[in-house]
Amino acid sequence: MADRNGYGNKAETHGGYVMKRNRWKAYEMMSCYQGFIEYYEATGRKDLLDAAVATCDQIIRDEINIAGGSASSEAWFHGIRKQHLPYERLQETCVVTTWMRFVEKLLQVTGDPKYADELEKAFYNIYLASLNRNADEFAAYTPLNGYRSRGHHHCAMHTNCCNANGPRGFLAFLRALFQTDGEAAIFNLYASSSESVFLPKLNEKVAFDIYTIYPAEGNVRIVNHTVKQMPFTVKLRIPAWSAKTTVKVNGKPVEGVKAGTYCAITRTWTIGDVVEIFFDMTTRAHVMNNHVAFTRGPIALARDTRFNDGDINEVFRRRSIKDGQAMDFASVRAPSEDIWMAYSASLPIGSHHEHPDGRRPQTVFFCDYASAGDLWQPSNAYRVWFPMEYGPAD
Ligand SMILES: [Zn+2]
Repeated sequence: MADRNGYGNKAETHGGYVMKRNRWKAYEMMSCYQGFIEYYEATGRKDLLDAAVATCDQIIRDEINIAGGSASSEAWFHGIRKQHLPYERLQETCVVTTWMRFVEKLLQVTGDPKYADELEKAFYNIYLASLNRNADEFAAYTPLNGYRSRGHHHCAMHTNCCNANGPRGFLAFLRALFQTDGEAAIFNLYASSSESVFLPKLNEKVAFDIYTIYPAEGNVRIVNHTVKQMPFTVKLRIPAWSAKTTVKVNGKPVEGVKAGTYCAITRTWTIGDVVEIFFDMTTRAHVMNNHVAFTRGPIALARDTRFNDGDINEVFRRRSIKDGQAMDFASVRAPSEDIWMAYSASLPIGSHHEHPDGRRPQTVFFCDYASAGDLWQPSNAYRVWFPMEYGPAD
């Protein structure tokens, strides 16, 4: 993706920014491919849809980081393998909202739930992180490690492109939340809400109430409020990260629930029928280039100076945590209303482990990345990727 500049694969820059005509400028490039999908819808040109799918899948493989964000100085830069490093101008909000619109469109056209996984990851992490706590301003850039700040002003106006584009992310999320393919009611995302949709192939309207505090917790309760008793299909998206998911209808487990697919339930539905979903919210470690980060379900976790629990930059011990390892994180009360989710964990932090006391784990706190640094001031620093010690032979 970062090699798509079209000028002999050499990065062409102007100051700190990529030249606009280069195809590696993330927001503009994705908008073009979104146009390809619309052109396909209007004309049936399948090659254009295939190009959009191939490009999107390459962005997922090369660029989208642990918080669902991407781009440095608005350009592709092989962001996955560099996400622990201090690259400049990370995760422009325009790139984030365009990415959300791109995957929402592909979800609609292809019905592949992996695009809903991507939309969810971006929404709950980098998108909400870019919004300030009064929800009246989007940041222009939001790093994975550092502190947050308001964006620059454009053209002598007290606003910028990111404040203009930011609200589109909410629309992408809401469009994907609950949909139909004509005959099934499809739950792509899970939020406390009342939903109804007309199923054209059945010529009937169906309705549901959803009760959940997901993704703070992993259980979702869906109550059928369709007045007419009739057979139809309910499809529930099971995210790829949820290794062990339980789905129940009126208390009875549903067989064959598989991560990264839809769980389709076809039956005669009666008003008051209850569907319960229990997602696998195990906290997992991600280890890359001698750095470690943690996720819980779709949420990237961060240390934050508001917890006042020591140096958030302190190193983890060498090779102390493996990639994919399940971690013991406990849900705890947040120290302030600015923080949505809070967790404590005892971890192998600190370099002085030859000392008997230094060998013991250190108990530290984490919050969801969207809440981290929410005071938008340098004294409120946060960190997602933590360095691990090197040894002399490394
Ligand atoms: Zn922008």
